[in-house]
Amino acid sequence: MSKQLRELKGVGEKTEKLFQKIGIVDTEDLLHYYPRNYDSYDEPMEISGLAEGSVAAVQASVVSGVYVNKVRNLQVVTVTAADHSGKIPVAWFNTPYLRSTLKKGSIFVFRGRVVRKQGRLELEHPEVFTPAAYEEILHSLQPIYSLTAGLSNKLIVKLIRQVLKEQPLYNEYLPEELKEKYHLADYSFAVNAIHFPLNMEELLTARRRLVFDEFLLFILAIQLLKEKTEEASNAFPMRPVWTTEQIIEKLPYKLTGAQANVWHEIERDLCGHRLMSRLVQGDVGSGKTILAFLAMVMTVENGYQSALMVPTEVLARQHYEAFLSLKEEQGIESCRPVLLTGSTTAKEKREIYAAIAAGEADIIIGTHALIQEKVVYRNLGLVITDEQHRFGVKQREALTTRGNPPHVLVMSATPIPRTLAIILYGDLDISIIDELPATRLPIKNCVVGTSYRPKAYSFIEKQVREGRQAYIICPMVEESEGLEAENVLDYTQKLRNILPADIHIAPLHGKMKAKEKNKIMEEFASGEIQVLVSTTVVEVGVNVPNATVMMVENAERFGLAQLHQLRGRVGRGNHQSYCIFMQGNQVEETSKRLEILNKSNDGFYIAGEDLKLRGPGDLFGIRQSGLLEFKLGDIYNDADVLKKASEAAGQILSLDEDISLPQHAVLREKLMSYMKDDLENLGL
Ligand code: ADP
Ligand code: MG
Repeated sequence: MSKQLRELKGVGEKTEKLFQKIGIVDTEDLLHYYPRNYDSYDEPMEISGLAEGSVAAVQASVVSGVYVNKVRNLQVVTVTAADHSGKIPVAWFNTPYLRSTLKKGSIFVFRGRVVRKQGRLELEHPEVFTPAAYEEILHSLQPIYSLTAGLSNKLIVKLIRQVLKEQPLYNEYLPEELKEKYHLADYSFAVNAIHFPLNMEELLTARRRLVFDEFLLFILAIQLLKEKTEEASNAFPMRPVWTTEQIIEKLPYKLTGAQANVWHEIERDLCGHRLMSRLVQGDVGSGKTILAFLAMVMTVENGYQSALMVPTEVLARQHYEAFLSLKEEQGIESCRPVLLTGSTTAKEKREIYAAIAAGEADIIIGTHALIQEKVVYRNLGLVITDEQHRFGVKQREALTTRGNPPHVLVMSATPIPRTLAIILYGDLDISIIDELPATRLPIKNCVVGTSYRPKAYSFIEKQVREGRQAYIICPMVEESEGLEAENVLDYTQKLRNILPADIHIAPLHGKMKAKEKNKIMEEFASGEIQVLVSTTVVEVGVNVPNATVMMVENAERFGLAQLHQLRGRVGRGNHQSYCIFMQGNQVEETSKRLEILNKSNDGFYIAGEDLKLRGPGDLFGIRQSGLLEFKLGDIYNDADVLKKASEAAGQILSLDEDISLPQHAVLREKLMSYMKDDLENLGL
């Protein structure tokens, strides 16, 4: 059914490679490469009514000759266009072929962005249509796909049209009664209409069906996996050890009640007759790391190795250092930790691999991929993932040593309302740390406009003088054409001119080399760098308790859950901490969302409110970061569909536990292929 892309007209080796870059290998992948947004082609407007910043169409005649200028290395083609209401200059970049089209006196529809150049409005790089051609697409929604350099939207559209034309019908795999019960569109219709909807209603109907499918397949898959994990018995139950009691006793703080409870749950799991598959959800700063360390120590003292996986190198290093200090402070002789990350040299890696294989290293901390590749464990008993949200059966199988699969503990700070967590983590037992250390002062928040910056800077200066540190978050790494948002590089320069010279300011972002990032993070952790201007690379897990100010520029560009994670970088020590959300626009919607953060520091409350604020119409709004990334569905925006899909999954499984009945044959096929490909993409 599915063909290689090469078999399509217009796809050569080069194009094929480009598609591979965005994960498209065959026509099936292509069909499920959904638009990231849609352009709507509305009635042309009058030139006098054009508003700066909008994208608009005008029907106008060319009333001037064609001028061609060179600006830097751009060739700019300009004409003046006019309708009965007025005139406007229209400019294109690097499109010399337009010169012959734009004959004086001819009428076109121009559709593009209205910008202000040297004080007057101009139509920038519009698409050009004959009035008849525009009439044809009027009111339609045209798909916009995410591209990669060298691949045009036009080409993707053309190829998808080609595939849909050759094979307009797709096998329905949902039982009829389910489709009726949940008012779902046909699969074939949905696949067609998600790319080329005739109107908004069609788009919404198609999208709802596909989102439902995504969720349903996901839920069915984890339910099937769950059965597998439940069968997995714990061949060698562990015993509680004295060392963990001592560690808890000697910590410079007392575990919160919630931490103690969760620790006991973990301890019980490790000693039980079934393998542990547990999710620990705890708000930022609730103290998850120490629980991970305790579990690892217990595992080691029972004679097994344990591994801790994290998504970033910065975090891996931090955990490693933290474990080393714990080991030193408390004289924990039994554990021999190693760190494995991308910047570990080849030579070091070989040595570490050998130590792991020989069982000479027993606490292995590192980034995800590294722990899976090439590492042969002697006897891995426990895998913990921090901030990864998911850990699949496949990964567990990959780590199985001597025929024994390890226990799995997943730690996440992403607060998902319980009703959704039960659905999404159906295969895991859930523990919640619902208490912050009592010594913590609640973070003080404010939402302000950019005019507040000078005050914010002098506040930061004051905090630095008191010995504290600050984070400033910018949405972008460097300046980018057309995007009005603060960027780390320019901001750092600017700030160096504003704050006194003896305050050490440094930039941090994901495009830096790992070595450089590590160095900066270490200098920040040790207090040498006082103000860190960073992208969201510090979002997860980073722990510098001495930092007390978090200032987020362009706060409107982040999702609420993400802002909450960012804020979680402060308020981790005993000093009063502050969070400044800098709102770069004046949209009321944004103010309302930010107000939620302003009012509360409770991640679960925030997630719940976020859910209420978002309507089903919010299709392409800000996605929550870090959470399971479905192609179309968003667990927050589409929470209602998620619940319906969960209900439907329950119904299917109650009839057909392992999805083997003949009426589910097509569904089963779909599910199997989903489990093979998509779950892997979701990190399962
Ligand atoms: P998270 O849950 O966000 O991963 P961490 O485990 O990094 O949080 O803990 C944040 C900070 O709180 C660390 O500096 C840690 O030492 C400290 N901490 C952990 N538990 C407690 C506690 N019960 N009382 C006081 N401080 C604690
Ligand atoms: Mg953490």
